[in-house]
Amino acid sequence: MKNKILKYDCLIVGSGLLGSLLGIALIKKKYKILIIEKENLSNRAFSDQRTLAVNANSRDFLKSINLWEKLNNQFTNIDQISIKTFLNSDELVFKEQQESMGSVIYNKELLTIAHKFLISQKSIIDKTLINLDQLTADENIQIKNKNYSFKKIIIAGGKQLREQMDPYCFLDGSSSQKAHVGFFNHQKSHDNIAYENFTKQGPLAILPAPHKSDKFSTFIYSTSDLISKPSIEKVISKNFKKTHGNIQLNKNIFSYPINPYLFNPKKKYKDLIFIGDSFRSIHPVAGQGWNLGVKDIQSFLNLLNSKSLDSKNFNAIYYSRRKIESYLYFAFTEVINKTFQLHTPLANFFGSNSLKALKRLSFLRTLFIKQAMGINKIIN
Ligand SMILES: Cc1cc2nc3c(=O)[nH]c(=O)nc-3n(C[C@H](O)[C@H](O)[C@H](O)COP(=O)(O)OP(=O)(O)OC[C@H]3O[C@@H](n4cnc5c(N)ncnc54)[C@H](O)[C@@H]3O)c2cc1C
Repeated sequence: MKNKILKYDCLIVGSGLLGSLLGIALIKKKYKILIIEKENLSNRAFSDQRTLAVNANSRDFLKSINLWEKLNNQFTNIDQISIKTFLNSDELVFKEQQESMGSVIYNKELLTIAHKFLISQKSIIDKTLINLDQLTADENIQIKNKNYSFKKIIIAGGKQLREQMDPYCFLDGSSSQKAHVGFFNHQKSHDNIAYENFTKQGPLAILPAPHKSDKFSTFIYSTSDLISKPSIEKVISKNFKKTHGNIQLNKNIFSYPINPYLFNPKKKYKDLIFIGDSFRSIHPVAGQGWNLGVKDIQSFLNLLNSKSLDSKNFNAIYYSRRKIESYLYFAFTEVINKTFQLHTPLANFFGSNSLKALKRLSFLRTLFIKQAMGINKIIN
């Protein structure tokens, strides 16, 4: 009895927003899964103070696993995206006539609902840290004194795993910024518009907060490590006085490190499937990190329609489907962020003209809108 091996379909390492959602989707498809999380579950959900811009594709995915309705209207739609730079007064506006471009939700709301479901299914074990070197599919793995074997091992440990792994498996980006996140009240309605302003110090995103009032928004300001609350307040006031009126920042500001990287699946750990921030971490300037992770999940689930979990080339096909889009986002976010940080005449010329080109060329704008909404089928 003591040595009995519990046979499961999948082990998921990490119960963040992506590991948990993949777990739920697999349970709904009747797979037997186990998620392990190193933190205490209740602390894990409540430590995240961020909001998430969920694009149209990810929203449909949340609906397909019956989580969207459980959010109990704790979301605000984004009907328009406006982009400006410090280089000129041009404003680039993206708007989709038929439906909202996305929605903003609180990370902790979604995570709490997801964990509640996983606990009810007895599919999650917390306070368990696992070392990736111990993990091999179809072999005996000991977790909390029990023996398990899994057909497939999925890594969803986010950025923290980066430090536990061999550095040569990653292509590193260059940002040493921090994303400072907070909330503010304002005089005028946000009108469901999301803003991305490239200020001299770094990109400043303003999103309508998921709140009863339309005079409450959140900011994500990616800039150097050292920035005080009054400085942030000054920058927001300067950039958004016209649209938002007088503003008042909430007391707490949270800072998240930005260290973009891309995992190279050809090398070590190729026996494991990486999703979300374990696979790639991109600069939050495009608000797409989690949305890309949802596409990892969808790719994995699509693959399950044609291949069994123990099929030999499963992992190779998964990586071949996900690597191009991952690389493009990694490179794109690096280039745009660098362009507006360099402040050289060439970078300024490139920055202001690429915005002008997007303004003039409607096919480029359509491509951009579809990509932002996650409904572009060209890159998949
Ligand atoms: C400021 C900011 C704003 C953002 N805004 C957006 C946005 O608007 N839209 C968007 O799409 N994306 C956004 N992102 C990106 C998004 O937050 C991430 O892509 C997403 O949260 C990653 O989720 P994850 O599940 O991969 O990782 P995580 O959320 O980091 O979860 C990983 C989990 O694994 C656990 N873990 C780690 N190692 C182990 C181990 N060895 N054993 C067991 N458990 C382990 C951790 O404790 C954690 O719970 C933003 C990022 C930042 C920094």
